[in-house]
Amino acid sequence: MREEVAADVAELGSVGLTTVLVGDDPASHVYINAKHKAATAVGIRANDIRLPEDTPEDELLDLLAQLNADEEVDGILVQLPLPSHIDEAKAIEAIDPSKDVDGFHPMNAGRLYLGRPTLVPGTPLGIMRLLAEYEIETKGAHAVVVGRSAIVGKPMAHLLLQANATVTVCHSRTVDLQKHTLDADILVAAAGQLHLIGADMVKAGATVIDVGMNRTDAGLFGDVDPSAAELAGHLTPVPGGVGPMTVAMLLRNAVTAARSRGLEATTAKPSLPGR
Ligand code: NAP
Repeated sequence: MREEVAADVAELGSVGLTTVLVGDDPASHVYINAKHKAATAVGIRANDIRLPEDTPEDELLDLLAQLNADEEVDGILVQLPLPSHIDEAKAIEAIDPSKDVDGFHPMNAGRLYLGRPTLVPGTPLGIMRLLAEYEIETKGAHAVVVGRSAIVGKPMAHLLLQANATVTVCHSRTVDLQKHTLDADILVAAAGQLHLIGADMVKAGATVIDVGMNRTDAGLFGDVDPSAAELAGHLTPVPGGVGPMTVAMLLRNAVTAARSRGLEATTAKPSLPGR
């Protein structure tokens, strides 16, 4: 993916990505550093804005308005979580949807819901790419998504539905989770619960995608118990599976945003970013 994106960046000539990090959350600093390293490595001009924890909400919104108007900026990413005095929804909605490389803006979420081309959150987009790369049939498959967040579970369910899977979405109030997961041909675990999915919850031969990132004193672990590997046809590792794909898809989204903006400039009419 990174090689493909690097070739696209070279062809476009220039792609600009600006990230905004507010505050001192240590995990956020690690994520932003990784995103910058990856962006720079593929030739994306990455601009790293870091603001103090006590930055007023208005100041962040003003900055986003400036970035929206800046022709040099193709993609904007506001690292979440934001400090509690800032309304996250307001910040996301302040980003120009055509520059929203995280795909979190309601306009992009709505387009995804309608099955129209748009900027899609990197984690589910990366999972679709993994399924395609390993030639996992989605058409007619029963896909079970555990988790219904706006950044993973819901967009994941929509993408699988678009790919003609029959989709079940489970969450913390689901009764008898095992009954559902045992029937999954494709199982996406995105609950953020250490080893929630045991080997007794996986159908033999199923494709299991582990999105979970659970930090413990012993290291980083997923939502799927490693013993499930014996039954699963495929199982993504944690770390080293969905995480790196998410970063790669962020870079892909920056290229998509740059392309669609270029198109707008040449055709002078609104155009939707394609995937
Ligand atoms: P989130 O916003 O906390 O959502 C978790 C979802 O899981 C919720 O819908 C919740 O149900 C559901 N859930 C929690 N406990 C459950 C249980 N025991 N049984 C069934 N469902 C349960 O988390 P998120 O942002 O979607 O992230 C999920 C995980 O993926 C986290 O570990 C996160 O760190 C990881 N993640 C990884 C990447 C990556 O790049 N690898 C990217 C994003 C997230 P309710 O809705 O009922 O509360």
